[in-house]
Amino acid sequence: MSTAGPDSVVPHAACATPNGAQVVPDGVDLAAASSAGPLRMMAVHAHPDDESSKGAATMARYVREGVEVLVCTLTGGERGDILNKAMDRPEVQANLPRIRRDEMAKARDILGVRQQFLGFVDSGLPEGDPLPPLPDGCFALQPLDVAAKPLVKAVREFKPHVMLTYDDNGGYPHPDHIMTHRVSVEAFEAAADPERYPDCGDPWQPLKLYYFVSFHRARFVALHEKMLELGLESPYAERLAEWSDRASDPERKVFEVTSRVPCGDYFEIRDQALLAHATQVDPNGFWFSCPVSVQREAWPTEDYHLARSIVDAPAIDADSPEDDLFAGIREKVRC
Ligand SMILES: [Zn+2]
Repeated sequence: MSTAGPDSVVPHAACATPNGAQVVPDGVDLAAASSAGPLRMMAVHAHPDDESSKGAATMARYVREGVEVLVCTLTGGERGDILNKAMDRPEVQANLPRIRRDEMAKARDILGVRQQFLGFVDSGLPEGDPLPPLPDGCFALQPLDVAAKPLVKAVREFKPHVMLTYDDNGGYPHPDHIMTHRVSVEAFEAAADPERYPDCGDPWQPLKLYYFVSFHRARFVALHEKMLELGLESPYAERLAEWSDRASDPERKVFEVTSRVPCGDYFEIRDQALLAHATQVDPNGFWFSCPVSVQREAWPTEDYHLARSIVDAPAIDADSPEDDLFAGIREKVRC
């Protein structure tokens, strides 16, 4: 996903004019939005465990630097499969929704973030040909304004300066991930407008919206090559061989990496948080097949695409990425 495509060069996307001037949406008090400390970040996710596999080390680092971080989890993950054989037992299957909440609480404490479920029901990942219909009442079938309302309310209450979410592809094509992208963009755009979602609190304008670019080719190539260099068996060969098929899919938008956050010192915390989701993660599986020390050496950052920004900051792209998601905000916020 680090390969630039025609849709990907949007360092200051929807809110910037061609000459780079800031365009602040009508009614937004930018001075107020950027002067109220401490720094705050909101990560919007579809299911419990997503926060630990995408951007977890970034959150762990920012929390320990004094940033307030809130994870909003749209669904309870009720229809997730049990992906760890050791946990695939009848009593776990029978209590999965409760167990996934307990796992989320553990991961939350390990990362040091706050977390809030927004109350929707997992849509499940449809499989088969043709795909079966989505279950009645699930998150992905909600009208956009219904699905976005709790998030708009959360944005107005928590007042994030920075929001993180999935790209248009959802990161991978799970209907809840694609819906999470849609509601995040809706909340970013609507939360500052007093006429929209009027019963959801006082308006608030987040200043930047980022997409996770967590599983991109350049990163896997670097990890693969480092493992071979060290004489270790690489788990990435198969994945890289399949990559050319995905890259040539014209339906799939590509988002360049505009932002790389150094967070290698927090990879162990990320892994502990991921392991807390014991029903979803096999401790002997793919996630843990590359030693942390190798990851730290080969690719010590988590990566993002700046999708929307209404702050004045230097232009960034894949050749000159920023290293701080609060760039252009940090200096304006009184902490
Ligand atoms: Zn998910």
